[in-house]
Amino acid sequence: MSELKLPSRAEDFSEWYNQLVLRAELADYAPVRGCMIVRPYGWALWENIQHALDRRFKATGHVNAAFPLLIPRSFIEKEKSHVAGFSPELAVVTIGGGEQLEEPLVIRPTSETIIGHAYAKWIQSYRDLPVLINQWNSVVRWELRTKLFLRTLEFFWQEGHTAHATLEEAQAETRQMLDIYADFAVTEAAIPVIPGRKSESERFAGADQTYSIEAMMGDGKALQSGTSHNLGQNFAKAFEIRYLDRDGKLQHCWTTSWGLSTRFIGAIIMVHGDDQGLILPPRLAPLQVVIVPIYKSEEEKGVVTERAKKLRAELVAADIRVTTDEREGVSPGYKFNDWEMRGVPLRMEIGPRDVAKGSVVLARRDKPGKEGKSVVPQEGLARAVAHALDEVQTALHERALAFREANTREPADYEEFKAAVAKGFARSYWCGDGKCEEQIKEQTGATMRCIPLEQPAGNGRCILCGQSAAEKAIFGRAY
Ligand SMILES: [Zn+2]
Repeated sequence: MSELKLPSRAEDFSEWYNQLVLRAELADYAPVRGCMIVRPYGWALWENIQHALDRRFKATGHVNAAFPLLIPRSFIEKEKSHVAGFSPELAVVTIGGGEQLEEPLVIRPTSETIIGHAYAKWIQSYRDLPVLINQWNSVVRWELRTKLFLRTLEFFWQEGHTAHATLEEAQAETRQMLDIYADFAVTEAAIPVIPGRKSESERFAGADQTYSIEAMMGDGKALQSGTSHNLGQNFAKAFEIRYLDRDGKLQHCWTTSWGLSTRFIGAIIMVHGDDQGLILPPRLAPLQVVIVPIYKSEEEKGVVTERAKKLRAELVAADIRVTTDEREGVSPGYKFNDWEMRGVPLRMEIGPRDVAKGSVVLARRDKPGKEGKSVVPQEGLARAVAHALDEVQTALHERALAFREANTREPADYEEFKAAVAKGFARSYWCGDGKCEEQIKEQTGATMRCIPLEQPAGNGRCILCGQSAAEKAIFGRAY
């Protein structure tokens, strides 16, 4: 890590982000443009995200499986709007083993088609339903403008695919998974999100209804952070996913799909980070505490490192993720900066005087300087550390929520609307007409992020055309 400071968020948010990702060693650029190498620290963060989600999926009856990376091209073409949506982004394999393939194979951009093919074989009767399968994998979409984690050619995610006997069950599943994503974002990542329904133009290719969670980044822009789709019978009809109902009649299934990707790491960076670097929510942080021993002489070193080792063992025993920075030839100040860049939520300093007094210094990453520092006794340290981590987790969520509230407006007219979306979100009535949505996008660069599930009582007037409108929508510029 170099001693250079990051560009400040205020002066160049985009460059701040790019440099932070590299210098916190989350990811690196790959030889193929648009691909990403996820480094061990970034992958450890992703693993914690995976665990937190996987636990929730399994608690609601889902199981994991693995479907192939390669999909016959003809599969993608079976669902009309699916192929229209994904064709421009497909990577296609035409040669295998040195021979031209009879049928080109697509590298999965998502797996509705190949899973639909399997479900058609596996599902015969209403007794086989519901089918609730998830898979953790990577997919490829040929993106032109890329940015590490936010938009990469290959990205890592989970994709859930379920089949049901009725529309109502499929809809309940779609909404359940949206709730799970929202709970995960708030509880684990300390990111406040707005769950809502997408407009027709923003729907997943082949879905009847798309829902998303939307979060506000530190520059006021929106990031779609997870999506859940009710696919109706579109894929069931394209792939003949059918079952015999209780009356012995053949019916098409109702299917859903839902996904959350490594994009979410971009959200964590942009919601919580500051000019010193990353700030990780304790519940997802690969390392929750870094111990920095401070000493001058060899004699001091012996005493301090021995005590640090003992305290570290106590924290490990309490299931706290902790490391000790024992690097030689590097000053404590350098180590402080280095771990601040990596966003470790809590730093523990211990020097000879702390050993003598039976205390340590804890420094919170989210509160720089004196304000975030406290002296705590070594006796009962694990409890004090766990408590401090909880405080950081709560404070991060509160700060992010306050920022979003401060940058969300309810504009009275279109002029105010334009000013609002230049800085953050506008919550406005929208008539539901795609033409208004399109015009707003052209004139302001803001898109309709979602129609929040939570709606005010009563009606209003569309912010653009003035027609009567039943629902408010969130508008903002987006990643
Ligand atoms: Zn309108």
